[in-house]
Formats: sequence, C-alpha cells, structure tokens
Amino acid sequence: MSDTATGSPTTPAIRCEGLTKRYRQGDLDVDVLMGIDLAIAPREQIAIVGVSGSGKSTLLHLLGGLDEPTAGRVSVIGRDMSKLGPAARGRLRNHALGFVYQFHHLLPELTCLENVALPLTIGGQATRVAAKEAERLLERVGLEHRLRHKPGEMSGGERQRAAVARALVTRPSCVLADEPTGNLDERTAARVWDLIAELNRESGTSFLVATHDHALAGRMDRVLTLTDGRVDEST
Ligand code: ADP
Ligand code: MG
Repeated sequence: MSDTATGSPTTPAIRCEGLTKRYRQGDLDVDVLMGIDLAIAPREQIAIVGVSGSGKSTLLHLLGGLDEPTAGRVSVIGRDMSKLGPAARGRLRNHALGFVYQFHHLLPELTCLENVALPLTIGGQATRVAAKEAERLLERVGLEHRLRHKPGEMSGGERQRAAVARALVTRPSCVLADEPTGNLDERTAARVWDLIAELNRESGTSFLVATHDHALAGRMDRVLTLTDGRVDEST
C-alpha cells in the first residue's frame, strides 16, 4: 500500500491554525476549542486524549471539514478548506481523508465488501475495480472470510476492522478516528490499535485517533492532550 493522496512528502496531511469553536448552549456561550495549532505530518500517528466533553469529537469534525470553525483555518494536503465550495470540499474529503467512528456506521443492508467498496464507487470508480480493492483491504485486516456477510452477522471487533478498511480504501493522506475502540472490550480494542499501527507503517497514511484511553494512546508516535480548549504535547 503506497502512493497515498499526499500532496508532497513535506506538506502536512492536515494543518490547523488558531482553530476555535464556540457553541451556543441556551443563553450561554461555550468555548470548546480556543486557538489550536496542529500539523499532522505525512506518515505520522497521533493520539488525542482528553476526558469526555473536552472537545475531541469537535476537533476531529473541524479537521475533517464536517463542521465549520468559529475562527481559524484548516488545510488538508495544503488546501485551505475555507476557500473551497461545498462540492470541492466534499471531493477533497473523499479523496484525502478517511473516517472511523466509535460505532462502525456500516450500512446494514450492504455486505461487508460492498460497504468497504462504497467510498470508491462514490468517488466514481467502476464497481469491479472498487470491489477488488475492497477485497484486498479486507484480506489485509483479516476479514477475507467475511466478504459476503452483512454487518449484523459480524462481531464488534470485525465490524471495526471493516470500518478501518473502509477508511483506507481510497488511500487517503490521513485517517481521523473518533474513539474507534470505545465500544470494544479491552483485548479486541488492543488488536484494532495494533492493526492501525501496522497499517500506518505499511501505507504511509497519517492517523489521528481520539481516545480517552491513555494506555492505548501510548502506542502512537505522539500523544496530545486536549484540556480547557487547548492542546498539550504529553510525550
Ligand atoms: P468529546 O468528544 O471530547 O467528548 P465533544 O467535542 O463531543 O467532546 O464536546 C465538547 C463540548 O462541546 C461538550 O461540552 C459538548 O456538550 C459541546 N458540544 C458538542 N457539540 C455541540 C453542539 N452541536 N452544540 C452545542 N454544544 C456542543
Ligand atoms: Mg467524542
């Protein structure tokens, strides 16, 4: 797995500057992110830890272009998201980023193979080419025996491995994973983190993984802690 959608070997996969998010809750303004500067280098694996409510999901949504910051900028492979219209932003997201969530978000009526092929078919790939690439990824994550199964027929760990395969199928520059193992038992969670680390080394895809589990986070290159709207390097 090489040739990811990276801009250049030195352009950060994702960079943000002065990233700020304020939510209105009733008649109260809540400052969740207060000026975050962060660069995710090509091939880098970063864990972002923080207690529940510290703003991890908010940060990932902003970095992935799924939500708008109150202030500050995000660029993905060197392109400023705020300067792109919705269609161009969607295309950049589809080609440069992959997403994994706490709950797998696989479509229940599709097979495992169809789910993993979906980002490619949405991106305009022919069905047969997409299926072949999806099958390759599913073999890599140890799910070659589950290609025709529906998500409802798979275990929690298998579903998350399929979700990781789906995030990587487009060979993105960066995968954003929001508590990808939050719903799994300890042993299964550790195996998914091992898999993420291996795929990161093989594919060169950067990973930013949010978690509240410090032990799992310690497996990554860098651990950032989100507290009071700011990020600190903790290792
Ligand atoms: P984490 O993922 O670390 O648990 P979140 O990013 O989900 O944290 O939430 C951070 C804070 O922002 C919380 O106080 C939450 O209530 C608030 N928040 C998140 N989304 C919204 C929203 N859409 N509207 C208002 N407040 C929100
Ligand atoms: Mg969250």
